[in-house]
Amino acid sequence: MNVILDLLFPKRCVSCGKIGSYICKKCFSRIEFIKNPVCPVCQRQAVEGKTHPGCKGRYRLDGLVVAARYRGPVKTAIIKVKYKWIYDIEKIFVDLLSQRFWKFNLPADLILVPVPLYSQRKKWRGFNQAEILAKSLSLQFNVPYFDLMNRFIETKPQVGLSREDRKENVKGAFALRKIITGVSGKNIILVDDVFTSGATMAECAKVLKKAGAGQVWAMAVALG
Ligand SMILES: [Zn+2]
Ligand SMILES: [Zn+2]
Repeated sequence: MNVILDLLFPKRCVSCGKIGSYICKKCFSRIEFIKNPVCPVCQRQAVEGKTHPGCKGRYRLDGLVVAARYRGPVKTAIIKVKYKWIYDIEKIFVDLLSQRFWKFNLPADLILVPVPLYSQRKKWRGFNQAEILAKSLSLQFNVPYFDLMNRFIETKPQVGLSREDRKENVKGAFALRKIITGVSGKNIILVDDVFTSGATMAECAKVLKKAGAGQVWAMAVALG
């Protein structure tokens, strides 16, 4: 099946257009991988991606897993699929992430939860990239996937807003789905494509922790 699809729709490098793969060797070599994990609160270097003791808070994120800088081919790839998903490209993103997993000290007994899109936007776009990523990670690593959250306010795009405005913009925008119970004590990885100020993930973590979640980590392909 894949062979036929590859023949019909040859893969092209998302960055330079070369046929053969979604990121060609040359562009792959330009990816700026994250060498040292960072704290999700202050974004300074942090051992194994864990939130610094001084940055910790009852309702804050406990750690951050990111693969690469939001630059070059990774940025191009993420922007390209924002409005039109490219068949199978999530495998590239999952690969980029999983090659770095050893650097992070994730808690055990995790579940994967995608950062939700506002329902109208999802309807219009047809997909949520965070959902596709989380599902793909779930399949590859056999970690349960739960679509736990709703975004019930259409927030302004975070791009171009200051750090403070970003926090304000997403405040109160998320809630747990009504039907969901049993978040209590669960360790959660929130999945999104890009982690920029972290305001969105931080707001989601707050909702999950108020509902009794254990550790809540953020995971994103790129660090903006
Ligand atoms: Zn290329
Ligand atoms: Zn910190």
